[in-house]
Amino acid sequence: VKRSRAVVLREFGAQLDLAEFEVPEPGPGAAVVAVELGGICGTDAHLQRGHLPMPLPVVLGHEAVGRVIGLGDGLDRDVLGQPIAPGDLVTWASSIACGRCHWCLREQEPTLCADRAVYGINRRADRWPHLSGAWADAIYLHPGTTLVAVPDGLEPVDVIALGCAGPTAVHGVLRLAAPGFGDTVVVQGSGPVGLAAAIYAGRSGAGRVVLVGGPAGRLELARELGIADVCLDIFEVEDPATRARLVLAETPGGRGADLVVECTGSPPAVAQGIDLCRPNGTYLILGQYTDRGPTPLNPHLITRKQLRVLGSWAFSGGHFVDYVESLPRLVERFELHRLVSTYPLESAGQALDDVRAGRVVKAALRPSRSALV
Ligand SMILES: [Zn+2]
Ligand SMILES: [Zn+2]
Repeated sequence: VKRSRAVVLREFGAQLDLAEFEVPEPGPGAAVVAVELGGICGTDAHLQRGHLPMPLPVVLGHEAVGRVIGLGDGLDRDVLGQPIAPGDLVTWASSIACGRCHWCLREQEPTLCADRAVYGINRRADRWPHLSGAWADAIYLHPGTTLVAVPDGLEPVDVIALGCAGPTAVHGVLRLAAPGFGDTVVVQGSGPVGLAAAIYAGRSGAGRVVLVGGPAGRLELARELGIADVCLDIFEVEDPATRARLVLAETPGGRGADLVVECTGSPPAVAQGIDLCRPNGTYLILGQYTDRGPTPLNPHLITRKQLRVLGSWAFSGGHFVDYVESLPRLVERFELHRLVSTYPLESAGQALDDVRAGRVVKAALRPSRSALV
């Protein structure tokens, strides 16, 4: 019997615990995977402090890529129908919707399902199979997991670089807002969600992508990788009116952007974003993943400018598959691996601190297969 280390959150705000669990044999339709990289998402920093409702204890980690150790009866292909076998590199969607409720069946919107089971967030570590998060040497993937073989030629680091921000941007930017060919798109925020939104806006045919964020080092990297046509550092300009003027000067005729995507998580950014939209334009609010309360804004501008205002929450298995299928072309175009800083599993606390302080763009834990003993 193999054993796996796992990073367990037992108490909000407390130090993370490195525990050990037995690696179970996969039951019918299930899989056991050795984690190659477990991504750290901005949401994890909030989960650790108790900013989102979740049960405890939990093995953290909801974005990952790994190698198949074992497959249960009946599981021999990925969601796209490609054969999978032990040793193959795979990745998977973090959530499984219930498939039975009003939101799943009537509305066909699995992201709104209230009974979604999410690896690394709401699967308890004190119940079998324990290994239900990606910050571990091994993870148990239940039947119904959207499991995808990693396309040939991609490295684990390519898959984890955007993390869950990738499929989140596929959902919001590509599927909901769907910018048109030649559009000017302004992205507020240069964290992983902002970078992913800028990348997918460019891929969807936008003519000009303006990234508004900071700090300078992060924008410099976005510029070097060619993620946006224009990068504006908000840390250099403190006055919101001056910031707005600078951004509007980058839009056709100074009229504003066809699409503005909010990816900051900061409520006051929403009022500022409305000012950056052109009349008859679209505003997508993508970054407000934790409830940081209300913010003053002028609703008259939404009516007066005839804005289309959209919200988008997380992503479905379908969005995740679209994301993985888009990766070979993204990796050809952008050196995504340069976004990633890796840490050993036992440094999860340090990695979380670095994410919180903005010292890294994307952190990922690198467990060790040799630890699976
Ligand atoms: Zn996430
Ligand atoms: Zn449901």
